[in-house]
Amino acid sequence: MGIESCVYEDDRLGIIHVRVLSTARRFIARWKNGEVYITIPPDTSPAQYDKVLEGFIPELLACKPKPPALFYDGYRFDGFDWSFEIRHSDGLNPLAMLSQLKMHGDRPHWIIMVGPDVDFSDPAHCKHISRYIDKHAAHVARKTLIHFAKEVAAQSGQHVTGWEVSHGLRTLGKCSSEGKISLSCRLAYLPPELRRYTITHELAHLTHFDHSPAFHALWAKLYGEPLPPVKQRLKSYRWPVY
Ligand SMILES: [Zn+2]
Repeated sequence: MGIESCVYEDDRLGIIHVRVLSTARRFIARWKNGEVYITIPPDTSPAQYDKVLEGFIPELLACKPKPPALFYDGYRFDGFDWSFEIRHSDGLNPLAMLSQLKMHGDRPHWIIMVGPDVDFSDPAHCKHISRYIDKHAAHVARKTLIHFAKEVAAQSGQHVTGWEVSHGLRTLGKCSSEGKISLSCRLAYLPPELRRYTITHELAHLTHFDHSPAFHALWAKLYGEPLPPVKQRLKSYRWPVY
């Protein structure tokens, strides 16, 4: 009995789609969307198949496509209170970027248009795109994030002397000895519970400038429930920007 068309998972290659083609005279293997597609002639025995596949493996592994780039034409980010999409546009200057705002109800949606020469596989270009998207995140942060933070602060009873939106990439929040809190525009990419997690952290710092047990007790009290184990989630969060 020959092998029939099927899909299975291989330890080394991942998903493999096998297709028996009556006109096939030899094996053909290729990658498509991160999965392997193998075309085989009819009446291929399992032993024959295994032997040919073994021969293919080094070559297939060598040309295994990299995971898709973070940005691509048609990419969409759907945040809690805003969204954006990326579109290649031939009408722009080679490396230019432009955005168009479309309100979806009270949620801003930006169409970020990138010029024809922007290369999504070039990290320098992606950084450039990220900084550009961050400006939109900062806009959202100034509008809705700060508003939300003020509400959380009012409920907490902590006195904040001023609010500010920063462009911190790793530091999501900071608080000064004068009682000013600065929140990174990057918080705008996060869902409300992670925003609140960071905001209450900074509010607790208004009383305790360290990470002592007293600080943690106050933080949990301001958060209003036991602090969720989101530290890992925050660390492993894949930002839609670099
Ligand atoms: Zn802290």
